[in-house]
Amino acid sequence: MAELVEDVPEVVLAVYAHPDDADVGAGGTLARWASSGCDVHLVVCTDGGRGTMDPAVSPEVLARQRRSELAAATALVGITSHEVLGLPDGELEDGQDLRAELVTRIRQVRPDAVLGHDPTAVFFGQDYFNHRDHRAAGWALLDACAPASALPHYFPNAGPAHQVGVVYLSGTLQPDVWVDVTGTIEVKAAAVECHRSQFPGGDGWAGSAVRGRAEEEGRRAGVAFAEGFRRVRLGG
Ligand SMILES: [Zn+2]
Repeated sequence: MAELVEDVPEVVLAVYAHPDDADVGAGGTLARWASSGCDVHLVVCTDGGRGTMDPAVSPEVLARQRRSELAAATALVGITSHEVLGLPDGELEDGQDLRAELVTRIRQVRPDAVLGHDPTAVFFGQDYFNHRDHRAAGWALLDACAPASALPHYFPNAGPAHQVGVVYLSGTLQPDVWVDVTGTIEVKAAAVECHRSQFPGGDGWAGSAVRGRAEEEGRRAGVAFAEGFRRVRLGG
């Protein structure tokens, strides 16, 4: 029987590679938790400046557009704070620098739940494999959560140690819990639609893709609309 997550965390930190990723992967969940009183903080690692097929759009212009798309989406979802680290799109490295940034955010925000990309997900069916920035952000986030944030001798200048309670990974091939997003599916659809630079298929196209995908997960979870996650509980 599919397990539905009913607990609402008090403080959440979501860390995603690109400006649209949090909405696509977890927008319904974040909106549901935010509307239940949870503080939701979002870190977007890259500027998203290379996310276009159009050679006439410069990365600088696109990055600016994506910042305003992100701001509109976060307002709909009810995100408490969002920050764009502004690293170059497509060049994210899972290294000490990114881990230091993420450990600093984790120790500042002190979340009980963290959301991000599942870095082990590479091939989705026969027509898509995962963006390298998603994999790099996912690994860096996992390593930042455990052990780094929890142990004081890792990044000793990044604030007092903090133990993250639970990690939810979206974009996963192995979901093991689901969040019922029936009440927030329209917020998610509208938030994804804010990222017009990424979904140029015309008004409503992205929203119906979002509803279709959430309906599929809903069938697995026994509800109308759901988002699936791989859950890892830390700190025993
Ligand atoms: Zn992305």
